[in-house]
Amino acid sequence: MTLKKLTWRYFLTNFLIVLVSMAITMWYSTSTFDKMYLQNTIEDAYARAWLLKRDFIRYYKSPDFNKTGIDSLCKVIGKEISTRITVILPSGKVIGDSEKDPEQMENHSDRPEVRQAITGANGVQQRYSTTLHQNMLYIAIPMESGGPILRLAVPLSKIQKHEMLFYSKLAIGALILLVILSFAGFFIFKELSKPIEVIKAGAQRFASGDFAFKLSIPPDQELSELAHSLNSMAASLNERINTITTQRNELNAILSGMSEGVIAVDNKERIISMNPAAQRFFNLSISSVKGKWLNEVVRNSELQSFLSKLFSNDPVTETSIVLPLPGTQCHLQIHGSVLRELSGNISGAVLVINNVTRLHQLEKIRKDFVSNVSHELRTPLTSIKGFVETILNNNYGINDDVKHFLEIISKKTDHLCSMVNDILSLSSIERDHEHKEICFARTDIGLLLDDSIRTCQSHAASKHITVEKSCEPALFAFVNQQLMEQAVINLIDNAIKYSNDNKTVIVTAVKQDGEIVISVIDQGIGIAQEHLDRIFERFYRVDKARSRKLGGTGLGLSIVKNIAITHGGRATVHSEINKGSTFRIHFPIDK
Ligand code: ADP
Repeated sequence: MTLKKLTWRYFLTNFLIVLVSMAITMWYSTSTFDKMYLQNTIEDAYARAWLLKRDFIRYYKSPDFNKTGIDSLCKVIGKEISTRITVILPSGKVIGDSEKDPEQMENHSDRPEVRQAITGANGVQQRYSTTLHQNMLYIAIPMESGGPILRLAVPLSKIQKHEMLFYSKLAIGALILLVILSFAGFFIFKELSKPIEVIKAGAQRFASGDFAFKLSIPPDQELSELAHSLNSMAASLNERINTITTQRNELNAILSGMSEGVIAVDNKERIISMNPAAQRFFNLSISSVKGKWLNEVVRNSELQSFLSKLFSNDPVTETSIVLPLPGTQCHLQIHGSVLRELSGNISGAVLVINNVTRLHQLEKIRKDFVSNVSHELRTPLTSIKGFVETILNNNYGINDDVKHFLEIISKKTDHLCSMVNDILSLSSIERDHEHKEICFARTDIGLLLDDSIRTCQSHAASKHITVEKSCEPALFAFVNQQLMEQAVINLIDNAIKYSNDNKTVIVTAVKQDGEIVISVIDQGIGIAQEHLDRIFERFYRVDKARSRKLGGTGLGLSIVKNIAITHGGRATVHSEINKGSTFRIHFPIDK
């Protein structure tokens, strides 16, 4: 609503209030005037009647009394005082009248004022006179008890004429007052609205962002408080906007300078912001992506499923994706975290992207190097092993010392061979997983455990260890049988290796929360808590000397972990020193 409209509204309200008050005042004063005027007229008529009564009673009681005389008296006095005078006998018979011939007049005993006067009271009545054809006020008084009635009649048209005069003067006065008050009200409101107009103009400047402007303070208390409040509101808004702008600039500078890509999306997966590094990774321009769905601008199913997992409260916060580039590949590592409102609801997510292509290349070079070296070592190692065994078996006149050294060489060569085999095995698992070359088939897990136990049987028997199996009947899963067997064999082999003689190793397989869990439980030496986090790392050994003595390579658990990962699962351990360990492989039933 504009200020102009406000003035008009005030004006109209004021006009209506004045109009209604005047109408009420006029109605009240005219009705009071009516009553007062009538009352005065009645009292005046009574006064005249009482004055005339003496003349009439004197004549009535004089010896000269006759009907013609009293009628003449009525006519003479009536003319003088401009009032109709009638003398009526208690029987109702009219004996004198100032206007008419009494002989021609009907019996008046039914007239209410006459009836009242006959009873001795003063009679009064207003009614239409059929004789004079106008509204009349009648008053009647008895001349004496049981005597004739003196009636005066005053025409009401006289009163009405006075009333009309009074009303018209009152109406003209009220109209003038109404016009004066309305216009005075209009100008007063217009004057009062001026400071509001000033405040309105100031508020419009604040709204347009001119916070440096200061409203002048009007003299009125309420408006000055309003102006003060608006000024302080503008100052605090200015401060907040400055802070937000500074923070936004800082944030933009940080995001622009980062070598990591940052993408912020809302809970509908629409892009809120994307820094230059992220734009470079995906070959995009910011103007074209803001507000669009992420999967619309970055067509990558892994990124999409990672984002869906983030929004579904999945604990996974990291993933790697590969973007095909002309003649090469770009490897990106993505860390994600959800943004939450104060209420706890997810409002979006932030993705931090690292280009790990270089690292990936170095890692590949390293892996290739390890794999190549291992491969190259295998042939000379096999030859050394063969020659040593030939010398030992053929006993070429060597003395016991030489024999002892040759036996050590043979043992070390065996150890080296196992290590090379484990390294090659790890490399091939990793390579096949990367190239998605591992085949999965529906496999009976019970039979898989049987085969694994059978492979370890001779090792177990050498230490009088019993290996027990407990498996849910008809437990099938999609696995690579050879790899899964290798993992289970590694675990059973470790359980036997790190248990004392005559103990029991239990191998179980169960279905649990949509995944299969294979457990290998032993009653062996156990692992101290501080080692558990690193136990699946390559070459990590709790007791190096013991491991070496037992022919360990430090790669067995690492192979188990990698096999679990290739099956979309994980390897876990629970162990207590001197009580035993439980190694588990968890993997989904379906691929
Ligand atoms: P290794 O060839 O040395 O056994 P692994 O990778 O198989 O290498 O195991 C790593 C280390 O974990 C071992 O050196 C050993 O200290 C510990 N370990 C593995 N399995 C068990 C087990 N069942 N009980 C106790 N310690 C174990």
